[in-house]
Amino acid sequence: MKKRYLMTPGPTPVPSEVLLAQARPMIHHRTPDFSAILMESIAGLKQVFATENDVLVIACSGTGAMESAFANCFCAGDTVIVGTNGKFGERLAQIGRVYGLEVVELAHEWNEVVKPDDIARALEENPDARGVAVCQSETSSGVLNDVEAIGAIVAGYPDCVFIVDSITGIGAVDCKTDEWELDVVMTGSQKGLMLPPGLAALTVSEKAWRAYERSTLPKFYFDWGKYGKSLEKDTTPFTPSVSLIIGLSEALKLMLDEGVEGVIARHSRLAEATRAGVTALGLELFAPPEGRGSAVTPVWVPEGVDGKAIVKIMKEKYGVTIAGGQEQYAGRIFRIGHLGYFGDFDIITTLAALEMTLAELGYEFERGAGISAAEAVFMEG
Ligand SMILES: *Cc1c(COP(=O)(O)O)cnc(C)c1O
Repeated sequence: MKKRYLMTPGPTPVPSEVLLAQARPMIHHRTPDFSAILMESIAGLKQVFATENDVLVIACSGTGAMESAFANCFCAGDTVIVGTNGKFGERLAQIGRVYGLEVVELAHEWNEVVKPDDIARALEENPDARGVAVCQSETSSGVLNDVEAIGAIVAGYPDCVFIVDSITGIGAVDCKTDEWELDVVMTGSQKGLMLPPGLAALTVSEKAWRAYERSTLPKFYFDWGKYGKSLEKDTTPFTPSVSLIIGLSEALKLMLDEGVEGVIARHSRLAEATRAGVTALGLELFAPPEGRGSAVTPVWVPEGVDGKAIVKIMKEKYGVTIAGGQEQYAGRIFRIGHLGYFGDFDIITTLAALEMTLAELGYEFERGAGISAAEAVFMEG
């Protein structure tokens, strides 16, 4: 037997309270019992999203929620500005193109933030744009984009909705949906919500509902109007993922017990300790100082070391699964996830495994420096 540690930014570990809740015998979804659990979960999600907007829960992975945002807010031929700095921002742009939108893609390097000024300029050049879409926490690059600043800009355009992929933002970093005027914010179950994959949640502002009323793109399963109407009757239009929603209600209890602020503070501490640990080993962080999120820490593979071997040895020899780089960064960076059900010692364990792995691969550094730097962060509390 080998004890395993899942240190990836999705799927993430699931607490035993949540696992056990999902193992309960099946209940029917058209019952008062299920409706109570659904509505309690939606109330909890509103706290997590910091919103009084409608929150829709859809049985699909995060990408389904992303797709639904495009299908529900636009008409074919609409102009949508998408700021990208990684794989998931690029996915937003791809979805827009698939739906026949005029996508103005503001492509940034993966280790740069999406600059609010670029969005402002693109809106001036395209004043008829119907939407702006940005990924808040870009999981492929660890970069945190300033959706608060971008929200303030888009708010000046009454017919333009701001769509935010916060799939690894929610539960890791501040995401103040209402205060920051974010029209559509989405997350997925297997990230900060500490659930298995298969469920997505998203918020819809008044402005986004107006865009929905105008939208003519085809939609059926993802038709937000159906979800909105069903919610008035405390239910869902189609069979929901009953067990995942029961699990969600338990996960939300854990999160709200700690408090949303507390959850975010814990993630910020875990991220800080991870950054301190890897930099003490002489490694370099991938994300720029002005845009480092708390969901995942991407690290450059040091010169002369095989990046894929780092991930492989950590997993096979030490049981610690981290993520490699994606696309052009495959083998060039590795990513330590600390999003969701994580505590201080998960970071210490991961840094210890990383040290042993790097030593085996011939990288020179002071053994113990990484864990010691992380300990220093944790001792400060
Ligand atoms: C995981 C993730 C997605 C995609 O979610 P799936 O659940 O894999 O469909 C989208 N955006 C970001 C930022 C993610 O981290």
